[in-house]
This record gives sequence, structure tokens and C-alpha cells, in this order.
Amino acid sequence: MKICIDLPDDVFVRLEAIAAAVGHPKEDVVLGSLQRYLTAHSTSSLAHPHAQHPPICRKKKTGVVRTTAPICELVNGLLYGDTTVGSVLKSGTFGLGTLNYLDGELVVLDGVAYQQTADGKSNPVQTDAKTPWMMVTDFDEDEAEKIELPNRLDHAALCDTLLQATKKNSFVAIKVVGEFEVLNLRAVRKQSGNRPLIEVSHEQALFNFGPGEIGSLVGFWSPEYVGYGLNVPGFHLHYISEDLKRGGHVLNAVLTRGVAYLQPIYHLLQDIPASEEFQKAELMARDTVAELKSSEGNHHNN
Ligand SMILES: [Zn+2]
Repeated sequence: MKICIDLPDDVFVRLEAIAAAVGHPKEDVVLGSLQRYLTAHSTSSLAHPHAQHPPICRKKKTGVVRTTAPICELVNGLLYGDTTVGSVLKSGTFGLGTLNYLDGELVVLDGVAYQQTADGKSNPVQTDAKTPWMMVTDFDEDEAEKIELPNRLDHAALCDTLLQATKKNSFVAIKVVGEFEVLNLRAVRKQSGNRPLIEVSHEQALFNFGPGEIGSLVGFWSPEYVGYGLNVPGFHLHYISEDLKRGGHVLNAVLTRGVAYLQPIYHLLQDIPASEEFQKAELMARDTVAELKSSEGNHHNN
């Protein structure tokens, strides 16, 4: 016997829009969304308020993380890339980034890329949109290490808890699903031309969500040694709400309750832009470590 439930019309409209934007069959989007919904709402995921110590399961998966440019490209104000979001999505279902000329933040979740703009909203991105920098991997909650987080973690405690469970000298894909008391987020604003990241970050849009905010932190831990130009060292997390309609780059998060999924990654696929602009740039002329810390937030303790 088949049991069915009717979905509201607005869900169908949104489903069609997302399926069209990403070029995937609607059935794939439905299955992915349903799986994500069930995971987020399962009582076993969120109902362990006193669990102090991870992990309830530990499985390892050797994956690949792809980044479309060294981060020093953005630090040095080269904000244009020829890579399409659609081509990056072939390398991973999960990640983050930005669009050309820093037109907002990007989150990739369940194979769909969402643009997060200065008004705090998230919307699916057209796959032909271009990006100067994205970072993606294939992420599988079932394969990841699952950690029941203690209740009421401020940002420092959350980072410390994640760091204790992180393989700090590898890349680690991180997803934190839960309820947030405070989320201080930012989105960069679209620039009219090339400009160093630190200057753009001074004019970023800041916005706050919570209390009672339900959603996911999506991102990575990157090892310290990549900080001289390859990537953002430490935690780099973006937020997307459960309804996928709002989010941004995380500056501060206070978790009410939730679970984390950590997936260590031991292989890096690093694109190097072939453009003349990139090849002629004096990429070590700026203090990348200091400027990343200032423009991206302190990803270790704040
Ligand atoms: Zn970011």
C-alpha cells in the first residue's frame, strides 16, 4: 500500500525553481531535501542535551576537497574568475565560496548552491554564474563522524569542541545542525571592479538571527599551514536556515542545541587560475595571514 501526503503549492513552486536553477531532476531535489529534513528532525540528532562527549559513531571517508583558486587571489583584490558554479558542483555537493566581484556569500548544500546577499537572504544560484573562489567536497552525513554537542555553546566553546574532534592538520568538512540563540553574520557586497578583500570587508553587510533560529553551519576546517596563500586557515563557516531562505558568513554563533558532522579530507584539488592577471600578480606583496584574519574574522576563538 502506498501512503502519500500532499505538499503545499508553494513548496512545489520552490522545488521547480531550484530544480531548474541547478539542472537536476525534481526527484533528486525531493529525495535530497527529504533526507536532510529527516536528519535535522530525528529525535536521535537533537535530543541529547547532556551528551558531553562525542562520538556516537566513527567512520572514516577519504574524500577530495576542491578549491577554484588560492585564497591569495581574493586577498590581492583579483575578484573575477572564469569558472562556473555548475562546473564546481560536479566536484562536490557541499561547501562555500563567493561569486564574481564578491557578489555575496555562497553556500553549497545537498548539491545546490545558494547566494547569500547583503539583505541576509539566500537564493539558489544559476549554474552559469561565475566564481573567483569556491571550496567544495562530497559530503555524506552517514559517513561523517557525528558529535552530539553539549547545549548552550558560545562561539569559542563551539570552536573548541569542534577543534578537539578535528584532525587539525587535514581539511575537515563541517556541518552543524541545530538551533541557534545568536548568529552574527555578514555578506560581502558586489564590487564594481577589482579591490583587495580587506577593503571590501570594511563595507560588508552585518545582520543577526536568533534566538530560536534553526539551520545549519556549513563549511570547513583548514590547517594552519595553508594560511600563507592557499586558503582561510582554521574554521570557515557559513550559515543557511532550515528553510534555505537566509544566511551568510558566520562571525559569531551561539548554539542552543545541535549535532555536528565532521568529515576529514586527505586530498586537495587546487585550481590555479591561468589568467594573465593572476599570473602577473605579486601575490606575496600583501600580508595574507593578517589580512585574512581581519577580513574573515578570527576563525579559532571568536
Ligand atoms: Zn566566508
